[in-house]
Amino acid sequence: MLTLNGITKKYKDKTALSDVSLELDCGIYGLLGPNGAGKSTLMNIITGNIKPTEGEVLWDGTDICRLGWEFRSLIGYAPQQQGLYNSFSGRRFLSYMAALKGISKKDAGNEIDRVLSYVNMQDAADRAIGGYSGGMKQRILIAQAILGCPKLIVLDEPTAGLDPKERVRVREQIKALSGDKIILVSTHVVSDIAPIAGEILLIRDGNIIDRGGVEELCQKYGESRDLEEVYMHIFGEEERHVETDSL
Ligand code: ADP
Ligand code: MG
Repeated sequence: MLTLNGITKKYKDKTALSDVSLELDCGIYGLLGPNGAGKSTLMNIITGNIKPTEGEVLWDGTDICRLGWEFRSLIGYAPQQQGLYNSFSGRRFLSYMAALKGISKKDAGNEIDRVLSYVNMQDAADRAIGGYSGGMKQRILIAQAILGCPKLIVLDEPTAGLDPKERVRVREQIKALSGDKIILVSTHVVSDIAPIAGEILLIRDGNIIDRGGVEELCQKYGESRDLEEVYMHIFGEEERHVETDSL
């Protein structure tokens, strides 16, 4: 169980998260909100990559700062920025990540084969990552996130930049992961998460403004037909502002 207590994150005078408290049990959660809402910041805090200005993150009741390496082996994280090593082959990248996660040399080979076959990348495993399509890069990122069977999997916009066919493929692979794990997936694209999430967390301006199942949220927000309508209802104005701002 993952617990966030009063998480606030300030970057100088910009408040990216304000007083976020959450409890997550096993299941697939969609962290849904527009660009700048605080999704990546929240994920970086949950994975221990950045420290909150205030508040604490607990894993089964223990502060993750005190878990150290133990927590590293519990989590799998695919960051939004594709910091991939283009000259590495997929397999070499995975073996590097396996070493960072503390997976022994003895176990790494089998584990890498397992995750490669999970994301259907066996055939491309020995080619350089630089030559992969966007979808293949995302699948290798997901593969490294699931090395060592972590209990908490955090995927930051895993479908960004993919074509429709690849999006569905990645979505189905995430769906197949569920079970005795917490899987948190961020996106600003409703259709990437609505079909697979047990619960949606709506994030806006650094606040989790609501959470619930897809149908539950649809009913709550004026009997909307689907989550897309809920999203437009809540974020429609904001999205328009973003569009005008960037003109
Ligand atoms: P999202 O992932 O939902 O797009 P982010 O967590 O990346 O949102 O950003 C939330 C807010 O914090 C945005 O306003 C963003 O500009 C700001 N922000 C994010 N990272 C930094 C940083 N390193 N320094 C200053 N501001 C930041
Ligand atoms: Mg982000």
